[in-house]
Amino acid sequence: MITFERVTKRFEPWTAVDGVSLTVEAGEFCVLIGPSGSGKSTLMKMVNRLIVPDEGTIRVGGEDIAMLRPEDLRRRMGYVIQNVGLFPHWTVERNIATVPTLLGWPKARVRDRVSDLLDLLKLDARRFRDAYPHQLSGGQQQRVGVARALAAEPAILLMDEPFSALDPITRGALQAEMTAIHKATGTTIVFVTHDMDEALKLANRIAVLDHGRLIQFGPPLEILHRP
Ligand code: ADP
Ligand code: ADP
Repeated sequence: MITFERVTKRFEPWTAVDGVSLTVEAGEFCVLIGPSGSGKSTLMKMVNRLIVPDEGTIRVGGEDIAMLRPEDLRRRMGYVIQNVGLFPHWTVERNIATVPTLLGWPKARVRDRVSDLLDLLKLDARRFRDAYPHQLSGGQQQRVGVARALAAEPAILLMDEPFSALDPITRGALQAEMTAIHKATGTTIVFVTHDMDEALKLANRIAVLDHGRLIQFGPPLEILHRP
């Protein structure tokens, strides 16, 4: 589903991502782990072309993303970051509806989709549909962030340390929710964390980055039992 072929990105004098080759299979829950500064965010931002690699090729569904229009990329992937970045002056419904609306979905379909997503993320529609972000807890805001990323039914969901700012209980609940959502939707997920416990809970496969290099890639047990 996503293929990196010898991908390199430099921020002189640093090499943030150094010759990474990696294939994420369709439907997989792949976790990228590594210490701060190891290149995780840079790798993720290259998938949706917020950052353009200096060398190498990234393919999504076999297509070189350099050849895709930004709208086509946006349609294929949702993106969730640590500080959700909800629009503060928009309701929950309007926040979630952003991408489907941009893509020209009919109003009734968007409204149904928002209802389904509020259900999926366990947010009571009567309470939250017309609420504003500042009226929500951090965990609830992050649920809306996930709903917004899933709204246009993307094939790929990119999540960059999405739960790192949450308390442990809220974080545990959202991790369980992500496992359920992954099972229910079959979305290909790439999830960045620096927390091995989180990686072991969520991943089908774990990719370990260090100083911009991919040093291990395999199922959780394999990663755990190597030095
Ligand atoms: P991680 O997500 O693993 O913490 P990043 O991908 O954010 O790592 O960063 C990798 C390296 O690239 C770090 O040394 C970081 O300081 C550097 N870096 C990232 N973005 C930029 C940028 N826009 N300009 C300069 N250096 C950057
Ligand atoms: P996050 O930590 O959420 O991934 P960023 O990707 O913005 O946030 O930053 C990751 C790392 O890259 C940090 O260490 C930050 O200092 C570094 N970085 C980001 N942008 C720049 C920049 N323009 N110049 C230098 N370093 C940067």
